[in-house]
Formats: sequence, structure tokens, C-alpha cells
Amino acid sequence: MRVSVLPNDDTDCGWINTLPPLDPATPLQGDKDADWVILGAGFTGMAVARQLASHMPDKHIVLIDAQRAGQGASGRNAGFIIDLPHHVDSTDIEDQTVNHRTRRLNHAAIDWLRELVKTHNIDCQWSERGKFHCAIEDKGVEELQKFKRGLDALDEPYTELDAQALAARIGTPYYREGVHTPGNILMQPAALARGLAQWLPNSVELIENSPVVDIDYGPTVTLTTEGGRLRTPNLVLATNGFTRGLGFLDNELLPIFASGSMTRPLDEEEQAALGGEGDWGIIAGDKMGSTLRYTQDHRIFVRNTFVYNTKMYMTQAERDKMKVWHEKAFRARFPMLPKVDFEFTWGGNICISRNAAPYFGKLADNVWAHVCQNGVGVAKGTIGGRLLADMIVGASSDLLDDMLAFPKPQKNPPRPFLDLAATFMVNWEQRKAGRER
Ligand SMILES: Cc1cc2nc3c(=O)[nH]c(=O)nc-3n(C[C@H](O)[C@H](O)[C@H](O)COP(=O)(O)OP(=O)(O)OC[C@H]3O[C@@H](n4cnc5c(N)ncnc54)[C@H](O)[C@@H]3O)c2cc1C
Repeated sequence: MRVSVLPNDDTDCGWINTLPPLDPATPLQGDKDADWVILGAGFTGMAVARQLASHMPDKHIVLIDAQRAGQGASGRNAGFIIDLPHHVDSTDIEDQTVNHRTRRLNHAAIDWLRELVKTHNIDCQWSERGKFHCAIEDKGVEELQKFKRGLDALDEPYTELDAQALAARIGTPYYREGVHTPGNILMQPAALARGLAQWLPNSVELIENSPVVDIDYGPTVTLTTEGGRLRTPNLVLATNGFTRGLGFLDNELLPIFASGSMTRPLDEEEQAALGGEGDWGIIAGDKMGSTLRYTQDHRIFVRNTFVYNTKMYMTQAERDKMKVWHEKAFRARFPMLPKVDFEFTWGGNICISRNAAPYFGKLADNVWAHVCQNGVGVAKGTIGGRLLADMIVGASSDLLDDMLAFPKPQKNPPRPFLDLAATFMVNWEQRKAGRER
């Protein structure tokens, strides 16, 4: 079958562009056989490859991507490795079971990534500074109250901050109140992804800049790129939202795009004018509000726009439109930095499902997948990728049971009703976010 949606990311991602240039990629040339092929070299695919290689060191594993490893959503995100369930605002008993499960999985992902970063000395601005949840509107403050109730139910530590205490930590006096939770990790996502790709096990062959344009499923799966063909008895899909174009889950996945902008580095005078205490990350009380980062290299990152996007890429005109929203959020929060402009604006795919469930498991006799990370794929993709490899070799663990306990993604309503409803919902929710955005 022809692959109907191919990655077509812009080349303007600040995280990627501020890293040193890479050595040339190795695209697929000619025909090749592999014991295992993993399609998609983001956090998920790299985790599957690493763990499969540790289970079967004598097997030839190929990890293939349309672009450089980690330069899809994995290198384009906001750089939070989230330790807690993203919305811990329910004290409902059933939800608490899900919250405990999610927390165990996220912690395992963080522990694994921390160990890899340390072992291989990966330079990625790894920062154990937690995250702030901040609010300015009544609705945002209400969300914070719910969030705190959820943290209490999980017995999670947190610090409450009023406007003044918050301003002392993050510089901007914009917010009314906030909550700091200590377990979140901040990092430079493209640098982390690049480091993980660089230190893949020797039995993993990384093939980059090779979009798979055709797949023939069967006892032997054949993946065709412009340069050659890859044959394998065993395929793993780690393609997140692009899985829709590969013949699976078209009715379950929802293609959302998020976009972010990043400033140039602040000079010393500007750093002093901003104030605060080192690098930080902010998540808005309202889920459609602005996510912000102040990086270790003194840049400010803003992400505050979502679009329902079935074509799976963003045009320059669309990114220009998004940048206006980033500018608005930036100017409102940082009036002390009037001369600071954005240097980069980019987009990236976020794949969600209606019930916020991932797909984890077997799609066909010899096709496995872990996709649909619901916007928090650094931790979820990493741990799910590792556990998928465990499941493939028949290993068992409490963590694998946790992963298997998630439901499968719910089916979407039929198109074009879906397209209209999803576009309306995303726009409406964003409009409601008011000054949180
Ligand atoms: C702006 C933004 C901010 C975000 N912030 C955060 C955050 O702070 N924390 C967090 O946890 N998550 C965040 N996310 C979500 C997170 O980035 C994703 O959930 C995560 O990257 C998913 O990882 P993955 O490996 O599953 O998929 P991806 O990183 O999307 O990797 C899939 C790979 O498959 C490849 N591929 C697809 N089709 C083909 C094909 N036909 N041929 C070859 N290769 C193919 C793609 O090129 C891609 O590299 C954010 C996302 C965006 C866009």
C-alpha cells in the first residue's frame, strides 16, 4: 500500500537549529534484510530499539526514519519530561488508579532516561527543577485548586506560591498564583534525542532521511523508500500520528499540531531585567494556556497554539499566524524585555485519541505498535517503547501490567463531521483560555 501521509516538518525548530551540525545521515541504499524493523526514530522508536537489542543482541535491528532521528515531534516539543499524570485533578477512585499507574510509568521513564544521560554524558540541559503550574484567570485558579486536590490524593509534594513568590522564582509578575511540583525534568529535547540516537546499541542500524513511501504487509513485510527496500519478518510502528497513513488506526487517532517560538539568548542586562532563579518551565492552569520555558542558554520558549491538522504539516503562513499568538503571550508576560524577538517558530505533530489512550500492542500477526502519546510522549513514548520490547519477548513485570491496563483508543465519529467538530472544539477551548493563553 502507498503510505498516505508522510512527515513534512518545517526546518525552523529552535531546539534543532541551535545544536551543532550533524554528520551526514545514512539513507537506505539498495535492498536490505533485517530481523526487526522499527519505523519511526523518535523517543518511542529509540526506546523500542534499545530494549529489543538488549533482549536479542545477536539480531539485526533496523531503526528507520524519514528525517534525522528525533527531529520529528520528539525534538520539537517543550522539553518537559512529565512525572505526574498531566491532569491529576480527579479524586474519583477509578481515576486515582489510573493516576497511580501513570505516575509509576512516568517515573520509570525518567529513571531510565536519567541513567542514559549520565552514562553517555548526554549534553541536553537536563534539569531536575520540577515545573510550575500558573494561573491568572479565575478559571485557571479553579483548575489549580483541582490540581492541588489531585496532588493531595496522590500524596505528592508541592509548594503553593502567591504572585510575589512566583515572580521571585520566574521573573514575570504576570501570574496570580502557582503551584510548584518537584519531580518534572526539563531538558533540550533535540539534544536529548540526538544523544539517545548517538548511543544506540551496536546491533541497531540507524537509517535516516528515508521516508517509507510504500509498505507491503504479509509474512515478510517490505518497506520501500526512494533509495531501496527493507524486508523483515517483524515490524514495529513508532510513528505516532503518522500511523494513520500506514493503514492502521485511521479512525482512532486525532491529528493535532502544536507550535512554539523561541527567542534569541537574552544578554546579561536582559537576564538581570528578567530576574528569577535559573531555568524554569511553566504549564498553564488552563490546558489551552501558554507553556513556557526559560532555558539554560537564556532563551524563552512559548507554546500556545493547537490546530486540528489532517494534512500533518504546517505551511509558513500557518506558522506566521501562530507566531502572532506566541508574541502576544510573550509581550504580556515579559514587558521588561521589549527588544527581545523570536528567532525561531515551528510546528510539530501531537497525536491524541478521544479517551486519551495510547495504542500499545499487536496490530497484526507480525506488526506491533506503540503510538498515540497524547501530547506527553517523552515519558510515555519512552517507557511504552521499552515495555513493548519486553512484551514482544514475553517478559512480564508490574510495569507491563500497568501499561496493558490502559484502554485502547476510542473510535472517532465519521468524517467530515469529525473534522468540523474537532476544529470547532480546539478553537473554542483555546478562545476560552483567555489570558492563560
Ligand atoms: C510543540 C510541541 C510541544 C510538546 N511538548 C511536550 C512536552 O513538553 N513533553 C512531552 O512529553 N511531550 C510533548 N509534546 C509531545 C511529544 O513531542 C510527542 O508525544 C512525542 O515526541 C512522541 O514521540 P514518538 O517517538 O512517539 O513520535 P515522533 O517523535 O513523532 O516520532 C515518529 C517518527 O516517525 C517518523 N515517520 C513517520 N512516518 C514515517 C514514514 N512513512 N517513513 C519514515 N519515517 C516516518 C517521523 O519522521 C518521526 O520522526 C509536544 C509536542 C509538540 C509538537
